[in-house]
Amino acid sequence: VAHRGEKIVPVVVVHGGAGEVARAKRAKHVQGAKRAAEQALALLVKGASALDAAVRAVEILENDPVYNAGTGACLTDEGTIELDASVMEGRNLDFGAIACLPPFKNPVHIARSVLEDGKHTFYAAEGARRFALAHGYEPAEPKSMITSAARKRLQRVLAGRAAAGWAGGTVGAVACSTRGEVAAATSTGGMVGKKTGRIGDTPLPGAGTWADDRTGACSSTGIGERIMRYALARHVCELMGAGVPTQVAADAAIAGFADRVDGRGGIIVVSPRGEAAFARNTSAMSYAIARAGSRTQSGI
Ligand code: ASP
Repeated sequence: VAHRGEKIVPVVVVHGGAGEVARAKRAKHVQGAKRAAEQALALLVKGASALDAAVRAVEILENDPVYNAGTGACLTDEGTIELDASVMEGRNLDFGAIACLPPFKNPVHIARSVLEDGKHTFYAAEGARRFALAHGYEPAEPKSMITSAARKRLQRVLAGRAAAGWAGGTVGAVACSTRGEVAAATSTGGMVGKKTGRIGDTPLPGAGTWADDRTGACSSTGIGERIMRYALARHVCELMGAGVPTQVAADAAIAGFADRVDGRGGIIVVSPRGEAAFARNTSAMSYAIARAGSRTQSGI
């Protein structure tokens, strides 16, 4: 926990999804992550909240068709888009999520509206659509969000030329403000060829997203069916809260996730003192760490 009055150097960490990323696409994944982290940091430096920064980073990545979130999201076995997203703020453990949302440009904004509305915490499918409409969001034309790459990928799966499942390219962000307040946001199209109604870890508190000013914040990516059983995001934050150094906690959480549920994936974390780390057990996960006054670290 940050000490009263202690100035924290603000930081934003983003990921562009754990999993296989073709070599030819790697540079694009990293560039997008770097740009999102830097633009979100610029907001934080101007005094925006950690939640503003995390949402901004995820919004930028949702708009980038390279990632499996918002525009470019992967498709269900019926060829439709069903989006999952969540946001969490560490001060009072406020949380908002939507799941199985039909096409809307920025699911992360709708999740944030759920948090701010406060009546319920989580809306799915038709109820999520109605919530979005009632809060002034315009539905998107499916055509405007379904990329030809996503369509081709589904066709390969349906034709038995590729295994159904992991799309890679889920997006997430965690941020810590100068006041030591943390937040997290995560958004995804899920898995390629998923069944209609399937919900992954991304919109679940403690699994895909967690933020607690007393411990830290985390955004997860990987096989959602495993991440939710391990409550991966909360697990790593509990380790940090128990005094385990941030990078050690991230590595330990991924090791435990692999050991206990044969999990595959990655996490990004930030502590309320502004320490940042990431860990993964997949061949790739694009990431960027943007910190005020330092050069952005990025890679895959
Ligand atoms: N965790 C996401 C899901 O299961 C997928 C991913 O991170 O690539 O929906």
